[in-house]
Amino acid sequence: MSSFIYLSIRSRTSEANLRGCPRRIVTVSSGIIRGQKATLAWTMSTIAYLSLGSNLGDREGHLRDAVARLESQGHVVAVSSFYETEPVEFANQPWFLNCAVAIETTKMATELLAGLLEIEGSMGRHRAQRKGPRLIDIDILLFGNAIIDSQELTVPHPAMHERRFVIEPLAEIAPEARHPVLAKTVRQLWDSLPPGQVVRRIAGPPMAR
Ligand code: AMP
Repeated sequence: MSSFIYLSIRSRTSEANLRGCPRRIVTVSSGIIRGQKATLAWTMSTIAYLSLGSNLGDREGHLRDAVARLESQGHVVAVSSFYETEPVEFANQPWFLNCAVAIETTKMATELLAGLLEIEGSMGRHRAQRKGPRLIDIDILLFGNAIIDSQELTVPHPAMHERRFVIEPLAEIAPEARHPVLAKTVRQLWDSLPPGQVVRRIAGPPMAR
């Protein structure tokens, strides 16, 4: 015997705007299923791209540890190879190991930033010198197509398009991701990078995804 489900759904999407920061989008659908009123609510997720770097101690171990800890902030969907990179701006320090990560998260950008700072702190990072050596650094490059310019957070990351150590790993996992301010894909940003900074891919993807 076949059964029929009569479904009529009305959806409402609401956006909470917090001090100019990106919005958590909650969709609430209500309708009638088999004569019963039903309500469903879910939170939309965002793909954020992060840049990770370390130039102190066991650099590879620190990157792997940080990627594992990122699962507390969402679902890690892609990790680039690790790249050995020449320091920029403050050149008199050890070379870095960098990678890029894509994470799917239901957090708002400010919540994600707080989570990243907590991971950095729990791994033992101390901010001794600006632009100086660091055990671990995690930056938000892109957060969906959000544009954020607040005191605590700037997204897209303001220097990402000038940095080969950021763009090259990112291009490996997300060449078609779009910079919402410059209106260019990551591949196009890579093509426009000036020559100069040495960036060497040293390993295949560090973990199967
Ligand atoms: P640093 O660890 O030296 O990269 O600086 C971290 C600080 O930069 C954080 O406390 C944030 O408030 C600020 N910040 C601004 N924009 C970003 C971003 N896109 N990603 C990470 N940190 C950011």
